[in-house]
Amino acid sequence: MIYTRPDYFNEFKCIADKCPDTCCAGWQIVIDDASLEKYKKLKGDYIWKVMSCVDWEEGCFRQDNEKRCAFLNSDNLCELYKNAGEDSLCKTCRDYPRHTEEFDGVREVTLSVSCPVVARLLMERMTPVNFVTEEHSEEEETLEFGDFDPFLYSIIEDGRAAMVEILQDRELPLKERAVLVLGMAHDMQRRINRRELFACDQVIAKYKREKSQAYVKEYLGMKGMMEEETLTKEMFPLIYELEILREEWDDLLHKSQNMLFFSMKEEFGQLKKEFDLWKAQKPEIEVHLEQILVYFLYTYFPGSVYDGQLFAKAQMAVYCTWMIELLWMAQWLMNGKRLNFDEMTELLYRFSREIEHSDENLEQLDEMMKKKWLI
Ligand code: SF4
Repeated sequence: MIYTRPDYFNEFKCIADKCPDTCCAGWQIVIDDASLEKYKKLKGDYIWKVMSCVDWEEGCFRQDNEKRCAFLNSDNLCELYKNAGEDSLCKTCRDYPRHTEEFDGVREVTLSVSCPVVARLLMERMTPVNFVTEEHSEEEETLEFGDFDPFLYSIIEDGRAAMVEILQDRELPLKERAVLVLGMAHDMQRRINRRELFACDQVIAKYKREKSQAYVKEYLGMKGMMEEETLTKEMFPLIYELEILREEWDDLLHKSQNMLFFSMKEEFGQLKKEFDLWKAQKPEIEVHLEQILVYFLYTYFPGSVYDGQLFAKAQMAVYCTWMIELLWMAQWLMNGKRLNFDEMTELLYRFSREIEHSDENLEQLDEMMKKKWLI
Protein backbone atom coordinates (compact mmCIF):
# COMPACT_ATOMS: atom_id res chain seq x y z
CA MET A 1 0.00 0.00 0.00
CA ILE A 2 1.33 3.45 -0.95
CA TYR A 3 0.65 6.32 1.44
CA THR A 4 0.91 10.02 0.64
CA ARG A 5 0.67 12.88 3.11
CA PRO A 6 1.62 16.57 3.28
CA ASP A 7 5.01 17.16 4.88
CA TYR A 8 3.48 19.02 7.86
CA PHE A 9 1.32 16.00 8.74
CA ASN A 10 3.27 14.99 11.87
CA GLU A 11 3.25 18.53 13.26
CA PHE A 12 -0.42 18.23 14.25
CA LYS A 13 -1.22 17.90 17.94
CA CYS A 14 -4.72 18.25 19.31
CA ILE A 15 -5.01 20.98 21.94
CA ALA A 16 -8.21 19.44 23.41
CA ASP A 17 -9.75 21.75 26.04
CA LYS A 18 -7.70 24.73 24.73
CA CYS A 19 -9.34 24.44 21.32
CA PRO A 20 -11.26 27.56 20.23
CA ASP A 21 -13.80 25.49 18.29
CA THR A 22 -13.80 21.88 19.43
CA CYS A 23 -14.67 19.17 16.91
CA CYS A 24 -16.87 17.53 19.59
CA ALA A 25 -19.61 20.11 18.99
CA GLY A 26 -21.56 21.45 16.06
CA TRP A 27 -21.95 18.29 14.00
CA GLN A 28 -23.23 14.78 14.41
CA ILE A 29 -20.53 12.23 15.23
CA VAL A 30 -21.31 8.93 13.52
CA ILE A 31 -20.11 5.80 15.36
CA ASP A 32 -18.67 2.90 13.35
CA ASP A 33 -20.16 -0.59 13.85
CA ALA A 34 -17.07 -2.01 15.62
CA SER A 35 -17.19 0.78 18.23
CA LEU A 36 -20.93 0.32 18.75
CA GLU A 37 -20.27 -3.35 19.47
CA LYS A 38 -17.46 -2.39 21.84
CA TYR A 39 -19.75 0.01 23.74
CA LYS A 40 -22.37 -2.71 24.20
CA LYS A 41 -19.74 -4.87 25.91
CA LEU A 42 -18.38 -2.20 28.28
CA LYS A 43 -18.54 -3.26 31.94
CA GLY A 44 -18.99 -1.44 35.25
CA ASP A 45 -21.11 1.54 36.27
CA TYR A 46 -19.92 3.56 33.27
CA ILE A 47 -22.04 1.42 30.95
CA TRP A 48 -25.12 3.43 32.07
CA LYS A 49 -23.56 6.71 30.99
CA VAL A 50 -22.60 5.17 27.63
CA MET A 51 -26.10 3.75 27.18
CA SER A 52 -27.67 7.18 27.61
CA CYS A 53 -25.12 9.12 25.52
CA VAL A 54 -25.34 6.92 22.43
CA ASP A 55 -28.22 7.16 20.01
CA TRP A 56 -28.36 3.44 19.20
CA GLU A 57 -30.92 3.82 16.48
CA GLU A 58 -29.00 6.46 14.50
CA GLY A 59 -25.57 5.07 15.46
CA CYS A 60 -24.20 8.40 16.68
CA PHE A 61 -23.49 10.28 19.92
CA ARG A 62 -26.37 12.26 21.37
CA GLN A 63 -25.99 16.04 21.58
CA ASP A 64 -27.28 18.71 23.95
CA ASN A 65 -29.26 21.78 22.82
CA GLU A 66 -26.04 23.53 21.81
CA LYS A 67 -25.08 20.56 19.63
CA ARG A 68 -22.29 19.54 22.02
CA CYS A 69 -21.50 15.81 22.19
CA ALA A 70 -23.14 14.27 25.27
CA PHE A 71 -19.68 13.10 26.44
CA LEU A 72 -18.14 16.58 26.26
CA ASN A 73 -17.91 17.98 29.79
CA SER A 74 -17.98 21.62 30.88
CA ASP A 75 -14.15 21.74 30.69
CA ASN A 76 -14.37 20.75 27.02
CA LEU A 77 -12.86 17.34 27.73
CA CYS A 78 -14.24 14.00 26.58
CA GLU A 79 -15.74 11.94 29.45
CA LEU A 80 -15.59 8.74 27.40
CA TYR A 81 -11.84 9.20 26.86
CA LYS A 82 -11.33 10.08 30.56
CA ASN A 83 -13.25 7.08 31.89
CA ALA A 84 -12.78 4.33 29.33
CA GLY A 85 -9.44 5.35 27.78
CA GLU A 86 -8.20 6.20 24.30
CA ASP A 87 -9.20 2.80 22.88
CA SER A 88 -12.84 3.57 23.57
CA LEU A 89 -12.94 6.35 20.96
CA CYS A 90 -14.91 5.59 17.82
CA LYS A 91 -13.20 5.73 14.39
CA THR A 92 -14.46 9.27 13.63
CA CYS A 93 -12.96 10.66 16.87
CA ARG A 94 -9.75 8.63 16.52
CA ASP A 95 -9.13 9.75 12.93
CA TYR A 96 -10.20 13.40 12.95
CA PRO A 97 -8.72 15.70 11.61
CA ARG A 98 -6.99 13.11 9.44
CA HIS A 99 -8.82 12.69 6.16
CA THR A 100 -8.26 9.72 3.87
CA GLU A 101 -9.01 9.42 0.18
CA GLU A 102 -8.68 5.82 -0.94
CA PHE A 103 -7.65 4.54 -4.37
CA ASP A 104 -6.58 1.14 -5.62
CA GLY A 105 -3.31 0.49 -3.74
CA VAL A 106 -2.99 4.13 -2.62
CA ARG A 107 -4.13 5.95 0.50
CA GLU A 108 -3.88 9.73 0.43
CA VAL A 109 -3.99 11.11 3.94
CA THR A 110 -4.35 14.83 4.60
CA LEU A 111 -5.25 16.95 7.61
CA SER A 112 -8.57 18.75 7.42
CA VAL A 113 -8.36 22.53 7.79
CA SER A 114 -11.70 22.43 9.61
CA CYS A 115 -9.58 21.86 12.74
CA PRO A 116 -8.28 25.22 14.08
CA VAL A 117 -4.82 23.75 14.77
CA VAL A 118 -4.49 22.45 11.22
CA ALA A 119 -5.80 25.70 9.75
CA ARG A 120 -3.12 27.55 11.71
CA LEU A 121 -0.43 25.07 10.61
CA LEU A 122 -1.32 25.67 6.98
CA MET A 123 -1.62 29.44 7.37
CA GLU A 124 1.72 29.71 9.17
CA ARG A 125 3.46 27.70 6.49
CA MET A 126 5.40 30.06 4.25
CA THR A 127 7.41 27.62 2.11
CA PRO A 128 5.65 25.50 -0.53
CA VAL A 129 4.14 22.30 0.86
CA ASN A 130 5.65 19.00 -0.28
CA PHE A 131 3.80 15.72 -0.40
CA VAL A 132 5.57 12.67 0.97
CA THR A 133 5.04 9.18 -0.45
CA GLU A 134 5.82 6.00 1.50
CA GLU A 135 5.22 2.35 0.80
CA HIS A 136 4.02 0.11 3.63
CA SER A 137 4.20 -3.58 2.89
CA GLU A 138 2.07 -4.87 5.78
CA GLU A 139 -1.28 -6.46 4.97
CA GLU A 140 -4.05 -3.92 5.34
CA GLU A 141 -7.74 -4.10 4.93
CA THR A 142 -8.52 -2.60 1.51
CA LEU A 143 -11.75 -1.64 -0.17
CA GLU A 144 -13.07 -3.21 -3.35
CA PHE A 145 -12.49 -0.92 -6.34
CA GLY A 146 -14.55 -2.64 -9.04
CA ASP A 147 -13.76 -1.14 -12.43
CA PHE A 148 -11.15 1.33 -11.16
CA ASP A 149 -9.19 2.69 -14.15
CA PRO A 150 -5.47 2.70 -13.21
CA PHE A 151 -4.47 4.43 -16.46
CA LEU A 152 -6.87 7.32 -15.89
CA TYR A 153 -5.67 7.52 -12.28
CA SER A 154 -2.03 7.84 -13.36
CA ILE A 155 -2.98 10.63 -15.81
CA ILE A 156 -4.88 12.44 -13.07
CA GLU A 157 -1.89 12.07 -10.75
CA ASP A 158 0.47 13.48 -13.41
CA GLY A 159 -1.95 16.35 -14.04
CA ARG A 160 -2.21 17.11 -10.33
CA ALA A 161 1.59 17.07 -9.88
CA ALA A 162 1.93 19.57 -12.76
CA MET A 163 -0.88 21.73 -11.34
CA VAL A 164 0.72 21.83 -7.88
CA GLU A 165 4.01 22.81 -9.53
CA ILE A 166 2.28 25.69 -11.33
CA LEU A 167 0.43 26.77 -8.17
CA GLN A 168 3.72 26.89 -6.27
CA ASP A 169 5.51 28.95 -8.92
CA ARG A 170 5.77 32.23 -7.03
CA GLU A 171 7.22 34.05 -10.01
CA LEU A 172 3.63 34.39 -11.28
CA PRO A 173 0.67 36.14 -9.62
CA LEU A 174 -1.65 33.61 -7.97
CA LYS A 175 -4.55 34.55 -10.23
CA GLU A 176 -2.50 33.60 -13.31
CA ARG A 177 -1.47 30.33 -11.69
CA ALA A 178 -5.12 29.52 -10.92
CA VAL A 179 -6.21 30.27 -14.50
CA LEU A 180 -3.38 28.08 -15.87
CA VAL A 181 -4.60 25.21 -13.67
CA LEU A 182 -8.20 25.69 -14.81
CA GLY A 183 -7.04 25.81 -18.43
CA MET A 184 -5.05 22.61 -18.03
CA ALA A 185 -7.97 20.83 -16.31
CA HIS A 186 -10.37 22.04 -19.01
CA ASP A 187 -8.15 20.81 -21.85
CA MET A 188 -7.50 17.48 -20.12
CA GLN A 189 -11.25 17.09 -19.64
CA ARG A 190 -11.87 17.51 -23.37
CA ARG A 191 -9.29 14.80 -24.18
CA ILE A 192 -10.83 12.47 -21.59
CA ASN A 193 -14.35 13.04 -22.92
CA ARG A 194 -13.07 12.02 -26.36
CA ARG A 195 -11.27 9.00 -24.81
CA GLU A 196 -7.94 10.44 -26.00
CA LEU A 197 -6.24 9.75 -22.70
CA PHE A 198 -2.76 9.61 -24.23
CA ALA A 199 -3.15 13.21 -25.45
CA CYS A 200 -3.33 14.45 -21.83
CA ASP A 201 0.48 14.31 -21.61
CA GLN A 202 0.69 16.93 -24.37
CA VAL A 203 -1.79 19.14 -22.53
CA ILE A 204 0.30 18.91 -19.35
CA ALA A 205 3.47 19.76 -21.28
CA LYS A 206 1.72 22.68 -23.06
CA TYR A 207 0.68 24.34 -19.80
CA LYS A 208 4.21 24.17 -18.45
CA ARG A 209 5.50 26.30 -21.35
CA GLU A 210 6.06 30.04 -21.05
CA LYS A 211 3.80 30.58 -24.06
CA SER A 212 0.81 29.42 -21.98
CA GLN A 213 1.78 31.82 -19.20
CA ALA A 214 1.95 34.68 -21.70
CA TYR A 215 -1.45 33.71 -23.10
CA VAL A 216 -3.05 33.66 -19.62
CA LYS A 217 -1.50 37.04 -18.79
CA GLU A 218 -3.01 38.48 -21.96
CA TYR A 219 -6.37 36.80 -21.30
CA LEU A 220 -6.56 38.24 -17.79
CA GLY A 221 -5.43 41.65 -19.05
CA MET A 222 -8.44 41.75 -21.36
CA LYS A 223 -10.86 40.95 -18.53
CA GLY A 224 -12.15 44.15 -16.99
CA MET A 225 -13.17 44.75 -13.40
CA MET A 226 -16.79 44.78 -14.61
CA GLU A 227 -16.53 41.16 -15.70
CA GLU A 228 -14.97 40.18 -12.39
CA GLU A 229 -17.77 41.96 -10.54
CA THR A 230 -20.47 40.21 -12.59
CA LEU A 231 -18.85 36.82 -12.06
CA THR A 232 -18.42 37.43 -8.32
CA LYS A 233 -22.07 38.46 -7.95
CA GLU A 234 -23.12 35.33 -9.79
CA MET A 235 -20.81 32.95 -7.98
CA PHE A 236 -21.01 34.12 -4.37
CA PRO A 237 -24.73 33.24 -3.89
CA LEU A 238 -24.10 29.64 -5.02
CA ILE A 239 -22.93 29.02 -1.51
CA TYR A 240 -26.50 29.50 -0.20
CA GLU A 241 -27.58 26.44 -2.15
CA LEU A 242 -25.50 24.27 0.18
CA GLU A 243 -26.69 22.71 3.42
CA ILE A 244 -26.06 24.99 6.43
CA LEU A 245 -24.56 23.08 9.36
CA ARG A 246 -24.50 25.93 11.87
CA GLU A 247 -26.92 28.86 12.05
CA GLU A 248 -24.05 31.32 12.65
CA TRP A 249 -22.70 30.38 9.23
CA ASP A 250 -25.83 31.58 7.47
CA ASP A 251 -25.57 34.80 9.40
CA LEU A 252 -21.93 35.28 8.43
CA LEU A 253 -22.69 34.66 4.74
CA HIS A 254 -25.49 37.24 4.68
CA LYS A 255 -23.40 39.83 6.52
CA SER A 256 -20.48 39.23 4.16
CA GLN A 257 -22.63 39.47 1.05
CA ASN A 258 -24.15 42.74 2.29
CA MET A 259 -20.73 44.16 3.02
CA LEU A 260 -19.33 43.21 -0.38
CA PHE A 261 -22.20 44.28 -2.57
CA PHE A 262 -24.73 46.49 -0.83
CA SER A 263 -23.64 48.28 2.37
CA MET A 264 -20.69 50.36 1.21
CA LYS A 265 -20.75 53.66 -0.66
CA GLU A 266 -18.26 52.34 -3.22
CA GLU A 267 -19.04 49.74 -5.89
CA PHE A 268 -17.62 46.23 -5.50
CA GLY A 269 -15.05 46.89 -8.24
CA GLN A 270 -13.63 49.91 -6.40
CA LEU A 271 -13.55 48.02 -3.09
CA LYS A 272 -11.81 45.07 -4.74
CA LYS A 273 -9.15 47.39 -6.17
CA GLU A 274 -8.52 48.78 -2.69
CA PHE A 275 -8.44 45.30 -1.17
CA ASP A 276 -5.92 44.16 -3.79
CA LEU A 277 -3.74 47.19 -3.05
CA TRP A 278 -3.92 46.43 0.69
CA LYS A 279 -3.06 42.77 -0.03
CA ALA A 280 -0.09 43.81 -2.15
CA GLN A 281 1.43 45.35 1.01
CA LYS A 282 1.12 41.95 2.69
CA PRO A 283 2.70 39.35 0.38
CA GLU A 284 2.09 36.61 2.96
CA ILE A 285 -1.63 36.71 2.07
CA GLU A 286 -0.92 35.43 -1.43
CA VAL A 287 1.12 32.63 0.16
CA HIS A 288 -1.83 31.72 2.46
CA LEU A 289 -4.13 31.59 -0.58
CA GLU A 290 -1.64 29.45 -2.49
CA GLN A 291 -1.49 26.94 0.39
CA ILE A 292 -5.31 26.84 0.57
CA LEU A 293 -5.66 26.31 -3.18
CA VAL A 294 -3.04 23.55 -3.16
CA TYR A 295 -4.84 21.96 -0.19
CA PHE A 296 -8.22 21.80 -1.97
CA LEU A 297 -6.76 20.71 -5.28
CA TYR A 298 -4.56 18.04 -3.72
CA THR A 299 -7.41 16.64 -1.63
CA TYR A 300 -10.20 16.48 -4.19
CA PHE A 301 -8.70 16.37 -7.69
CA PRO A 302 -7.83 12.61 -7.72
CA GLY A 303 -11.46 11.78 -6.82
CA SER A 304 -12.19 12.53 -10.49
CA VAL A 305 -10.98 8.99 -11.27
CA TYR A 306 -14.43 7.83 -10.10
CA ASP A 307 -16.54 10.17 -12.26
CA GLY A 308 -14.09 11.48 -14.88
CA GLN A 309 -14.94 15.11 -13.94
CA LEU A 310 -11.47 16.67 -13.62
CA PHE A 311 -12.51 20.14 -14.62
CA ALA A 312 -15.26 20.29 -11.97
CA LYS A 313 -12.77 19.24 -9.27
CA ALA A 314 -10.22 21.88 -10.33
CA GLN A 315 -13.00 24.50 -10.44
CA MET A 316 -14.15 23.45 -6.97
CA ALA A 317 -10.64 24.02 -5.56
CA VAL A 318 -10.48 27.49 -7.13
CA TYR A 319 -14.04 28.33 -6.08
CA CYS A 320 -13.43 27.38 -2.43
CA THR A 321 -10.23 29.46 -2.30
CA TRP A 322 -11.98 32.38 -3.98
CA MET A 323 -14.91 32.25 -1.54
CA ILE A 324 -12.50 32.23 1.43
CA GLU A 325 -10.75 35.28 -0.02
CA LEU A 326 -14.13 37.03 -0.43
CA LEU A 327 -15.00 36.26 3.20
CA TRP A 328 -11.64 37.76 4.17
CA MET A 329 -12.42 40.84 2.09
CA ALA A 330 -15.86 41.19 3.73
CA GLN A 331 -14.28 40.90 7.20
CA TRP A 332 -11.65 43.48 6.16
CA LEU A 333 -14.51 45.86 5.25
CA MET A 334 -16.37 45.14 8.52
CA ASN A 335 -13.17 45.97 10.45
CA GLY A 336 -12.72 49.32 8.70
CA LYS A 337 -10.25 47.91 6.12
CA ARG A 338 -8.14 45.87 8.51
CA LEU A 339 -7.77 42.12 8.89
CA ASN A 340 -5.48 40.02 11.06
CA PHE A 341 -4.02 36.54 10.86
CA ASP A 342 -6.37 35.06 13.51
CA GLU A 343 -9.46 36.32 11.69
CA MET A 344 -8.27 34.82 8.39
CA THR A 345 -7.50 31.50 10.10
CA GLU A 346 -10.91 31.40 11.77
CA LEU A 347 -12.72 32.07 8.50
CA LEU A 348 -10.71 29.29 6.87
CA TYR A 349 -11.68 26.62 9.41
CA ARG A 350 -15.29 27.78 9.56
CA PHE A 351 -15.58 27.57 5.77
CA SER A 352 -14.05 24.09 5.78
CA ARG A 353 -16.42 22.88 8.54
CA GLU A 354 -19.44 23.85 6.54
CA ILE A 355 -18.30 22.62 3.17
CA GLU A 356 -15.99 19.68 3.73
CA HIS A 357 -17.88 17.87 6.47
CA SER A 358 -21.11 17.41 4.63
CA ASP A 359 -21.12 14.81 1.86
CA GLU A 360 -24.24 16.49 0.55
CA ASN A 361 -22.38 19.81 0.24
CA LEU A 362 -19.36 18.28 -1.46
CA GLU A 363 -21.58 16.49 -3.97
CA GLN A 364 -23.67 19.57 -4.63
CA LEU A 365 -20.63 21.76 -5.11
CA ASP A 366 -19.24 19.21 -7.51
CA GLU A 367 -22.50 19.29 -9.48
CA MET A 368 -22.51 23.11 -9.57
CA MET A 369 -18.92 23.19 -10.80
CA LYS A 370 -19.87 20.93 -13.72
CA LYS A 371 -22.38 23.53 -14.90
CA LYS A 372 -20.81 26.90 -14.01
CA TRP A 373 -17.58 28.14 -15.52
CA LEU A 374 -15.12 30.27 -13.59
CA ILE A 375 -13.24 31.09 -16.82
S1 SF4 B 1 -10.81 20.65 16.40
FE1 SF4 B 1 -8.68 19.88 16.28
S2 SF4 B 1 -7.58 20.80 18.05
FE2 SF4 B 1 -9.81 21.10 18.36
S3 SF4 B 1 -10.41 19.39 19.69
FE3 SF4 B 1 -10.76 18.73 17.55
S4 SF4 B 1 -8.86 17.70 16.85
FE4 SF4 B 1 -8.41 18.84 18.77
